[in-house]
Amino acid sequence: MPVYRAPVGDTLFILNEVLGFERYNNLPGFADATPETIEAILGEAARMAEEVLFPLNYSGDQEGCRRNDDATVSTPTGFKQAYEAYCAAGWTGLAEPEEFGGQGLPYTLHAAVGEYTSAANMSLMMYPGLTQGAMAAIVVHGTEAQKRTYLPNMVQGRWSGAMNLTEPHCGTDLGLLRSKAVPQPDGSYRISGQKIFISAGEHDLTENIVHLVLARIEGAPEGTKGISLFIVPKFLVGEDGALGARNGVTCGAIEHKMGIHANATCVMNYDEATGYLIGAENRGLPAMFVMMNEERVSVGLQGVSIAEVAYQNAAAYARDRIQGRALSGAKAPDRKADPIIVHPDIRRTLMTIRTFNEAGRAFLLWTALQSDIAHRSADDRERQVADDILGLVTPILKGVMTDKGFEHAVMAQQVFGGHGYMEDNGMSQYVRDARIAMIYEGANGIQALDLVGRKLGLNGGRAAMALFKEIGDFCAENRADEGMAPFTKALKKALDDVQASTMWFMQNAMVKPDNAGAGSTDYMHLFGLVILGYMWARMVKAAQAGLAAGDGGRTQFLKAKLVTGRFYMERILPETALRRTRIEAGAETMMALPAEVF
Ligand SMILES: Cc1cc2nc3c(=O)[nH]c(=O)nc-3n(C[C@H](O)[C@H](O)[C@H](O)COP(=O)(O)OP(=O)(O)OC[C@H]3O[C@@H](n4cnc5c(N)ncnc54)[C@H](O)[C@@H]3O)c2cc1C
Repeated sequence: MPVYRAPVGDTLFILNEVLGFERYNNLPGFADATPETIEAILGEAARMAEEVLFPLNYSGDQEGCRRNDDATVSTPTGFKQAYEAYCAAGWTGLAEPEEFGGQGLPYTLHAAVGEYTSAANMSLMMYPGLTQGAMAAIVVHGTEAQKRTYLPNMVQGRWSGAMNLTEPHCGTDLGLLRSKAVPQPDGSYRISGQKIFISAGEHDLTENIVHLVLARIEGAPEGTKGISLFIVPKFLVGEDGALGARNGVTCGAIEHKMGIHANATCVMNYDEATGYLIGAENRGLPAMFVMMNEERVSVGLQGVSIAEVAYQNAAAYARDRIQGRALSGAKAPDRKADPIIVHPDIRRTLMTIRTFNEAGRAFLLWTALQSDIAHRSADDRERQVADDILGLVTPILKGVMTDKGFEHAVMAQQVFGGHGYMEDNGMSQYVRDARIAMIYEGANGIQALDLVGRKLGLNGGRAAMALFKEIGDFCAENRADEGMAPFTKALKKALDDVQASTMWFMQNAMVKPDNAGAGSTDYMHLFGLVILGYMWARMVKAAQAGLAAGDGGRTQFLKAKLVTGRFYMERILPETALRRTRIEAGAETMMALPAEVF
C-alpha cells in the first residue's frame, strides 16, 4: 500500500530560509505566524494529512461516489467523519478573514497545508478547496448582506461551495453560455439551465451547498459581455440565517470518469432555482475570475502534491526492489541482486521528479506569498508589484506544475515496472488523479494562451519586465560568489532564452497571431523552467548559508539541496534552448496542412 510523509522540514526551509517569511511580519496576520507557530501548524497539518486523510485515499478511489434515487449523492465511507475532523480542527478558516470567523493567517500557510492535504487525498480536499474559491469571490464581490449570510458557515465548513460554468456546448468559450436568469419583483432571479462536470456539485458532507452560477439575464447581450454571476444555495436561507426550502437545483447524474472517483463530478439541473446576483449585471466573468484565479493556484498545487506522493512511493520502492546488478559492480553482494536504486536510469527518474517537486514547492509558496502581499500590504507600490507577479505567474504555476505533475506521476509509476500498472499498489490512482489537473480550471493550452495573449502584454509588459529584472539582478549580485557561479551562469542563459522569446513574440506575433498560439505552450514551459531555476538558485544560496553556519543536524538535507539543484541546472534547465527554438520556428509549418488531411 502507498505511503506518505508530509515534507514539513522542506516547507520550513523554504519559508524561513529562502523566502525570509519573518521579513513580512508587518503584514496583517503575519505577526501571529511566528516560526514556532508555523512549525506547530505544519506539524498538525502533517498529522491530519497522514493519519486522517491519507488512509481514505485508496478506499475512496475504489468505492467512489454514489447518486441515490432521491438525487442525493453519497461520498465514500469515512469521508464525512474525516471532513468533520478537518473542519473541527479549523483548517477551513485558516486564512479566512477574522470578521467572518476565520483565523486570518497568511494564505501562504494555507497553501503549505494544502500541499500536504491534497497529496494525502486530492478528491476529499477538493470539497473544501472549492469552498475556498467561492468564499474569495463572495469576499470581493458580495454585498454586506451576502457576506454575512454565507461566509461564517462556509468558513466553518458547515456549508460548501461549487463553481458552475461549464455547459454541454460551452467549455472554454464561455461566450456560448445559455443558462438564463429571469428577474423577479423581489430582486432575486429564477435560474434555469444545465451545467455539467460540476465538482462537488452535490454531496453529503455539508448542510448546504452554495453554488456560484454563471447565467445570462434575459435580454442581455450575446457573448461574454452578457454573463452575470449568481449565488444559488441548495437550501434557501431565511433572514434569521436558518435553512429554509429546498431550491430548484438538483444533481441529474454523476459523471463516470478516469480519476478523482471520490469527488462527485455532477450534472446540475437548474429548474427556476432562486438565485441572487453577485457583482454587477453582465459583469459575471470578472467576479467569477476571483474564484477561478484562486482555484488555478490550488490546481497548480495539486500537480506538486501528486508528484510528491508519487515520488515518495517510487523512492521507497526503488530502495526495496531488487533486480540486476549495478553497472559499477555489486552493491549488495550478500543478496541475489541489487536494489534498483543503484541503476542510473532509475536515479534519472527519481532525480527528475525530486528536482521539480522541491522547486515546485518553492514556486507555489512564493506565488502564495505574492498573493498575501497583494492583498494585505499597506504599501501601494509593494501591492502593485506583487499583484503584477501573481497575475503573470498564475497560469505558469497551473499549466507547468500540472503538466509535470502528470508526467512525473507516470515516471514514478514506471519505477514500479508492471507492479505500477496494478491497481493495488496505488500508483495507477496517482496517474489517473493527476490527469484532470491539466484539464480543469482552463485546459493547459488555454493557460499558455492567457500568458502569451493577455498577461505578457498587460500594462506594457510591466510584470514580465519586473520579474526578468529581479532574476537578472539575482544573477548579477551572486556572480562573484564561486559557490553560486554554476547556478547563476545556467540561470542567466535560461533568462536570455525567455527574454529573447518574449522579444520574438513582440516582433512576430502582433502581425501574425498564429505565431503566438503556436509558441504559447513552449513559452509557458520555458518561463516555468526559468522560474523553477530561480527558485533553485535561491534555495542553493540558502543551503550554502545553512552549511556555512554549521547546522550539523541538517547537513545531509542541505547537501542534498546542492546536489538536487545542480541536477536541475545540468539536466533540466538547458531545455529552455529547445523551447526557444520551437517558439522561433513560428506557426507556418504547424498551420500548413488543410484540416481534412488530419
Ligand atoms: C473532472 C472534471 C471536473 C470539472 N469541474 C468543473 C467545475 O467544478 N465547474 C465547472 O464549471 N467546470 C468544471 N469542469 C469543466 C472543465 O473546466 C472543462 O472541461 C474545461 O474548461 C475545458 O472545457 P471543455 O471540456 O468543454 O473543452 P473545450 O473547450 O471543448 O476544449 C477542447 C480542447 O480545445 C482547446 N481549445 C479550446 N478553445 C481553444 C482556443 N481558443 N485556442 C486553443 N485551444 C483551444 C482546449 O485547450 C482543449 O484542449 C470539470 C471538468 C472535469 C473533467
